[in-house]
Amino acid sequence: MNSGLQEDLDKGDCISCGGSTFESLPYKNDLMGVDISFKRCCSCGTICPAMEPTALDEYVTRYYTTKYHDSFLQRTSKKDILSKCYRFFARIVSTGCEYRFIKKFLTEGSSMLEIGASDGSLIERFSNKGFDCSIIEPDEKFHKQVSEKLVKVQAYRSIEELGSRKRKFDMIVLVHVLEHVTRPTLFLKDIKRLLRTDGKLYIELPNIVHEGILKDSIVDHPHLYHWNLDGAKIFFKSLGFNIEHLEPYSTRISPYDRPRFASIRKIYYFLAAFFFMKDYYFIKSNGHMLRAVLSINSANENE
Ligand SMILES: [Zn+2]
Repeated sequence: MNSGLQEDLDKGDCISCGGSTFESLPYKNDLMGVDISFKRCCSCGTICPAMEPTALDEYVTRYYTTKYHDSFLQRTSKKDILSKCYRFFARIVSTGCEYRFIKKFLTEGSSMLEIGASDGSLIERFSNKGFDCSIIEPDEKFHKQVSEKLVKVQAYRSIEELGSRKRKFDMIVLVHVLEHVTRPTLFLKDIKRLLRTDGKLYIELPNIVHEGILKDSIVDHPHLYHWNLDGAKIFFKSLGFNIEHLEPYSTRISPYDRPRFASIRKIYYFLAAFFFMKDYYFIKSNGHMLRAVLSINSANENE
């Protein structure tokens, strides 16, 4: 690592705070067929790719249309029966916790849009409870899967496709999506136009509080941008959002902790969450994820 080396690796300023001083990072991402280096803002800690978005677009588009499903998702999905069972129950536990958290911000019949809904397991819970649900899922296989399985959910392929319908939503959900896009600033500005003036935006992100999380996020996932708590706060406010809620959280036993009897405790919390709907996640200053609930700051509506 070029420890202590501070340099402007790229002309682009920090997307969160506008800072122009960066330090380089020792990790690269090579999943998309090119080595992508990263730089950390010395002011707010936000990590951005050291490559122009226009150059990134080409690799990112090619990756998601050709490799993502068959290489990344397969690689991270072990096929043995035990792993399959674990994934099945883990999905129920995690979407259950997300459902109970997000539901607190909704009223009966609220309209909801999930962007990057993958197999639709989260939106399915809301649809089953009578909420008016839509998704945007550009991945063909996931789009087909959701359209066929969830007939009440309206499925779109892009923000542009939905934007032409002039629809607005009470709640928009982005679960581990923002770190994948090449232009998070423009992306959130587009999303803001799809929110009702009193609507809420729910965002989940990796929290790069530990170097281990950051390395994992850069090397093993097609993630481009990374935030810590302070950087996320600055970023969301700069885009004219009010922060209703922003906190680091973790599973009861995070992969980055090494407490005694971790495996036994993990099984206990997992089963408690599954059978008794206990919260599997909890607020923790060094939690490996961040979750935010944002609303539109009406003083900044021209943003
Ligand atoms: Zn910054």
